[in-house]
Amino acid sequence: MRTVAIVGRPNVGKSTLFNRLAARRSALVDAVPGVTRDRREGKASLGGLEFTAVDTGGFEDGDSSSLSTRIWLQIEAALLDADVALFLVDARSGLSATDRELARRVRVAATPVILIANKCEGTAADAGLYDACSLGLGDPVPISAEHGLGLSDLHEELATWLDTAAPSGGDAEPHGDGRDNIPLRLAVVGRPNVGKSTLINHLIGRERLITGPEPGITHDAITVEWEAGGRKLHLVDTAGLRRRPKVTERLEKLYAGDTRRAIGLAHVVAVMLDVAAP
Ligand code: GDP
Ligand code: MG
Repeated sequence: MRTVAIVGRPNVGKSTLFNRLAARRSALVDAVPGVTRDRREGKASLGGLEFTAVDTGGFEDGDSSSLSTRIWLQIEAALLDADVALFLVDARSGLSATDRELARRVRVAATPVILIANKCEGTAADAGLYDACSLGLGDPVPISAEHGLGLSDLHEELATWLDTAAPSGGDAEPHGDGRDNIPLRLAVVGRPNVGKSTLINHLIGRERLITGPEPGITHDAITVEWEAGGRKLHLVDTAGLRRRPKVTERLEKLYAGDTRRAIGLAHVVAVMLDVAAP
């Protein structure tokens, strides 16, 4: 069974989301920050995805009390066990130093993270939603755990990590297996002629992509399979992107759309520059 950990500072709505995903209402929800002290696990599902959800205690920063240390150790353990983590922030109250500190710690963990902006049922959440983009955890998925909004977007994100070739051995499957089976999509982007195709050819060790001094040889995003460190990758070579005002030709606009799509679909995007013309 794949495992999804829910993390965040107190009162962002972790337990509310847990209850929404869990088969049985078991997490304590309270307006008093810090109600969930211990980690809670339960069978959960979302749009046909089945997984174990783990609700964690709210991360507290700034005091070195034994309680806050204990909570962090517990969050860290939950992250280690999880196939993917849901990092919740409260878009209504905005981001705090605690959110940023937890984001910093979560970013260095090996577990993939989906950033979630909760309490997005009204416009009061707009500023917090955009602010969440600055956490370095990708674009936030806006939801309202209490009102059940945004769950289809959450499902789509979760499916990326959970909906892989189902293990036949059921629970015998070791953690992290599914994640490693998904080829990592790495898109290489940059202005025309910076050397994107040349780099990919070097990585895979053959002239798979046509390169040349004429800008714009690569028109469509092309995917090339590669393996590094025992992990499968899909390297995506893209047409060069220029600043919008310069994109006048209709065809070039089309290629630009293709590049943007490749960026949207990539797990990691490498931006390449030409040092001679930064
Ligand atoms: P946790 O500490 O992160 O587990 O947060 P809780 O789930 O206990 O929720 C804290 C408070 O936020 C409670 O008063 C919830 O009713 C409230 N809450 C949770 N989700 C939402 C939401 O989507 N919108 C709003 N406005 N409030 C929410
Ligand atoms: Mg809680």
